[in-house]
Amino acid sequence: MTKAITPKIIIAVDGYSSSGKSSMAKALARTIGYRYIDSGAMYRAVTLYGMRHGLVADGKVDEEALVAALPEMKIDFKVAYGKQRTLLNGEDVEDEIRSMEVSNNVSPVSTIPAVRHALVEMQQAFGEEKGIVMDGRDIGTTVFPNAEMKVFVNASAETRAHRRFLELQGKGVETTYEDVLKNVVERDRIDSTRAESPLRQAEDAVCLDNSEMTISQQDEWLLNLYKSIVGEE
Ligand code: C5P
Repeated sequence: MTKAITPKIIIAVDGYSSSGKSSMAKALARTIGYRYIDSGAMYRAVTLYGMRHGLVADGKVDEEALVAALPEMKIDFKVAYGKQRTLLNGEDVEDEIRSMEVSNNVSPVSTIPAVRHALVEMQQAFGEEKGIVMDGRDIGTTVFPNAEMKVFVNASAETRAHRRFLELQGKGVETTYEDVLKNVVERDRIDSTRAESPLRQAEDAVCLDNSEMTISQQDEWLLNLYKSIVGEE
């Protein structure tokens, strides 16, 4: 008997800042041969563009000018040496968009409805052929409300800040745990209280608190959920 082909689905992984959702989403995409899209990187790229053009600084945004410049921003992804890199108008900005300066400015930028509309449209285009894992804040609620698999990831703010601090240290970014914690808490606040598609768990999302989990445990949990949804053993 021939084995049935597993249908391609859309997988939405949402959650709080630095909850480990990107690592989980990336690992799952690699294992099952899906495309991975980091929607947060897209908001970060718009923020970087704004910072470079003097439209975003110290948490303040020249909304009108930034929105007018949206058509000039082409955001894409490439894979280099097995790692995903974010491109802004063809330039690899992956390292720059992870800086604390971008982290401190990205949430105000992502409250702007016209920015969200433009990026949601691009994100939906990435999902046209399914077979995609996308992580973010509003993927299961706004970008792909009909996604076949939705996960909402959380962990305590201290656990998340600690993980992020270690990650930044590993990348040689100079910062303190206190600054990272402040940034995580502030981004959570802005992301959950904004008017336009705020961060919240979709009603049909499966919730995961990974505070006490190792990376391999959370990867296994996600893979098992995927298998149960597509009917693979
Ligand atoms: O995922 P990451 O932490 O890199 O996202 C950076 C910021 O981009 C978030 O704090 C949030 O303000 C914004 N974002 C969003 N909607 C998404 C993904 C990210 O508003 N789908």
